[in-house]
Amino acid sequence: MGIVEPIGSGGDRRRLRVRSPVSLEPIGEFECANAADVKVAVERARKAQVEWAAKVPEQRARVLWRLVDQIVEHQEEIIDAVIEETGKARSEAITMEVFSSCDAIAYTAKHGPKQLKTEKRRIHGLLGFVKKLRIVYEPLGVVALITPWNGPVVLSCVPLAQALMAGNAVVHKPSEVTPFSAKLVERLALAAGLPPDLYQVIQGDAATGAALIDSGIDKLSFTGSVATGRKVAEICGRLLIPCTLELGGKDAMIVCADADLDRAAQGALIGSCMNTGHYCCGTERIYVVEEVYDAFLEKVLDGVKQLRQGETGEFDVGAVFWDKQMDIIENHVEDARAKGASVLAGGRRNPELRGLFYEPTVVTDVTHDMDLMRKETFGPVLAVMKVKDEDEALALANDSDYGLNGNVWTTDTAKGIRIAERMETGGVCVNDMAMIYGIPEAPFGGVKSSGVGQVNGISGVRNYCHAKPITSDRRGKGKIQGGYPYTQKGTDGMQKLIRLLWGTRLGRWLS
Ligand code: NAD
Repeated sequence: MGIVEPIGSGGDRRRLRVRSPVSLEPIGEFECANAADVKVAVERARKAQVEWAAKVPEQRARVLWRLVDQIVEHQEEIIDAVIEETGKARSEAITMEVFSSCDAIAYTAKHGPKQLKTEKRRIHGLLGFVKKLRIVYEPLGVVALITPWNGPVVLSCVPLAQALMAGNAVVHKPSEVTPFSAKLVERLALAAGLPPDLYQVIQGDAATGAALIDSGIDKLSFTGSVATGRKVAEICGRLLIPCTLELGGKDAMIVCADADLDRAAQGALIGSCMNTGHYCCGTERIYVVEEVYDAFLEKVLDGVKQLRQGETGEFDVGAVFWDKQMDIIENHVEDARAKGASVLAGGRRNPELRGLFYEPTVVTDVTHDMDLMRKETFGPVLAVMKVKDEDEALALANDSDYGLNGNVWTTDTAKGIRIAERMETGGVCVNDMAMIYGIPEAPFGGVKSSGVGQVNGISGVRNYCHAKPITSDRRGKGKIQGGYPYTQKGTDGMQKLIRLLWGTRLGRWLS
């Protein structure tokens, strides 16, 4: 019995049933959009986009502000929908899904119009005397979003707001594990005054996602696993569609000898167990220098005992959202155990609870031969390794196919930043973890296998635009310089100019 399972087909559309990972009881069913449905959605979106693109950015921003109003007003509904689908802790539903969504949409509404303003750029050197340059930020058309199940509302709202702000229409395929909360976002967007068809959520699984990429879209914003990222990037490559790929991670934590160990231990627990460990920038590997290893581990083991797991009410660590992820978590911990690791806490499903609950787990004596230190586990597991010094920690942290984020813990912030600069990752937190995606000013995206391209940052909205340069001649009349007919005098003059401009100091300064 899976969390998502087929229940027969309605003609040429497959039907899927979704169960709660907490109660394992069915919570709803949906029909997977087929290739024809997806094409119709994209065509409708293309029509709706024309009018939307004609609005000035301030008008689009006003609709985004109203979406924020809707989210604030309906936050209980959002929290309930997300908890029902995922079994995450209520506190995580509030901070990660509601707070972060409001913050990101509001940031986009506030700063988007500035980012979209036509820019006049001075052209350098002599050309600047005769030509002018302006950059116009034009929408791309129809943007497809394909999103995962670990942050069903926030991972919908962040790219949605940026793509809409830029003047695009959006067709969105959420994960089949969390299909209903994205539908709720669609409903709230309509209630906020978004024109019909401008944002459409189509439900389905991999086949629907693949059909969406091949349905005439102008850009794909994909968030998901490395394996799927490779597949979708291949299709985008064939179709020459731009895409950003926000993929998985295996974030390392480095604990230096001078770290505030209480803070670092808290950081390890929350970094690894937040959102049941289903966080792309979750801490998956912890390297601790030997001077403080025992003291750090003791604090972590004390802390893990305090973590409450539950089905309802106040608790800290929720359900594993999907049975397929449970298999991965169990396999990684078993592989580590079989290869000599010690499981000091957890390491099993919670026998007290009905649903998919994996106990917060602490594993030591780990090595880089184990899946737990190599592959993305995406579960509430702290894998702790003793290292000689910071250099060894850094070498091991960088010994990974992934490079999403990482974190460093030291009371010497300058040293922390130096270590951060040497980490081969898309971003790093010092004395903190998992912050980068939540800071809209910060460009976010992985290196190595963790992704291609960046999202957010001060030009987040421009990622959904074509930056079109338009040049104009200052005079606009008379003979075109360097035009026909070519003459000996003209070419000699050009060669003299080259020598003057780049063959002399003064020329280099002028050019
Ligand atoms: P996934 O790759 O299995 O699925 C992601 C989405 O792609 C889903 O909507 C799925 O239905 C769709 N899909 C699957 N196969 C497809 C195909 N062949 N063509 C088109 N679409 C297809 O990932 P997941 O298990 O849903 O999500 C977890 C992963 O997402 C983890 O690796 C996590 O680290 C990553 N993630 C990354 C970020 C980030 O910003 N870097 C954020 C959240 C999650």
